[in-house]
Amino acid sequence: MSRTQDEIAAADAHSAHNYHPLPVVVATAEGAWMTDVEGRRFLDLLAGYSALNFGHGNRRLIDAARAQLERVTLTSRAFQHDRFAEFCARLAELCGKEMVLPMNTGAEAVETAVKTARKWGYEVKGVPDGHAKIVVAANNFHGRTTTIVSFSTDHEARDHYGPYTPGFEIVPYGDLTALESAVTENTVAVLLEPIQGEAGVLVPPAGYLRGVRELTTRRNVLFMADEIQSGLGRTGKTFACEHEDVVPDVYILGKALGGGVVPVSAVVADADVLGVFRPGEHGSTFGGNPLACAVGLEVIAMLRTGEYQQRATELGEHLHAELGLLVGGGAVEAVRGRGLWAGVDIVPAKGTGREISERLMERGVLVKDTHGSTIRIAPPLVIGKEDLDWGLEQLRAVLSA
Ligand code: PLP
Repeated sequence: MSRTQDEIAAADAHSAHNYHPLPVVVATAEGAWMTDVEGRRFLDLLAGYSALNFGHGNRRLIDAARAQLERVTLTSRAFQHDRFAEFCARLAELCGKEMVLPMNTGAEAVETAVKTARKWGYEVKGVPDGHAKIVVAANNFHGRTTTIVSFSTDHEARDHYGPYTPGFEIVPYGDLTALESAVTENTVAVLLEPIQGEAGVLVPPAGYLRGVRELTTRRNVLFMADEIQSGLGRTGKTFACEHEDVVPDVYILGKALGGGVVPVSAVVADADVLGVFRPGEHGSTFGGNPLACAVGLEVIAMLRTGEYQQRATELGEHLHAELGLLVGGGAVEAVRGRGLWAGVDIVPAKGTGREISERLMERGVLVKDTHGSTIRIAPPLVIGKEDLDWGLEQLRAVLSA
């Protein structure tokens, strides 16, 4: 057996089978490239589902982490530490908001946003206790906790995890009329991805996010944007909501906030919203730890230059122009996305998304399928244009075979 097969067999024997990874075992990585245990190089066109926007082993991030590792890594929130205030202030500033509540994973941040909205609903809006409703979109992906899967429409994510958490109503994504009818006086929030990532990089119709903003303001409902995957440079803007000049009440951030180095997530909002929490009412041992804050601060500093957003815009235009040429040629049904982020629907006769991903892997390119016939392309924003072109060449070769 090869080293790769050995590693995969050992992983299969001793880990839960809750993933179906491509059969590649990565040993090292730098920039947009990964090297496996047998020394083969692969171009990473997934970037850890956008957690690696700044690339593997980003020097600034590794240096920031290393320096912090030598000082202090964890205090818990029982004590203050000297990176916390600066991280919260800088992140709030990046978002144009007043307060930050740091957590670790994306799902934790979404849970935190759900709790924020309910508490705000009871204590500020005046919804009767226990009656708060949050409106969400069909085909959402917000994480894997029992509450979050309670409002998923994906059977794989949801089935056999009940009893489910009540208090959520699901409406079609992109449909303002359905949203308007779902909002009642007990609605505390609308929770949406500005672009639905796991659903296949679905961009809502033009005007939708602006409509959501107008409706939520008019009905005194919080607009909570899950920018965990869409935010922090991926679409060519710091936040995907900016494409419609929309500012939500609550930003939910994760993934790239930790630079692919440590898990860092956060809920960011003004004081009239996040101010609902008092000591003891919510928390996390690792949330806002010194290492997370040090890496997060560097991420924020990098985003403030605007350089990564610019790169995502320019390379994204190129990516979409190239992918657009494939549509209608017999192999690609549709391409969606924004910035350096694309969902490519493969014509079923050409193979499933999984099969296309495996064939790309054989040619040294790593992508991941979603929902049967779609592959997602989301390279690190630091990818070179020549590398991206080489990756696209491999895709064309796979699709023309
Ligand atoms: N929200 C969105 C939009 C996501 O894309 C994801 C992960 O893919 C999550 C939440 C969950 O994040 P995590 O896997 O860090 O819990």
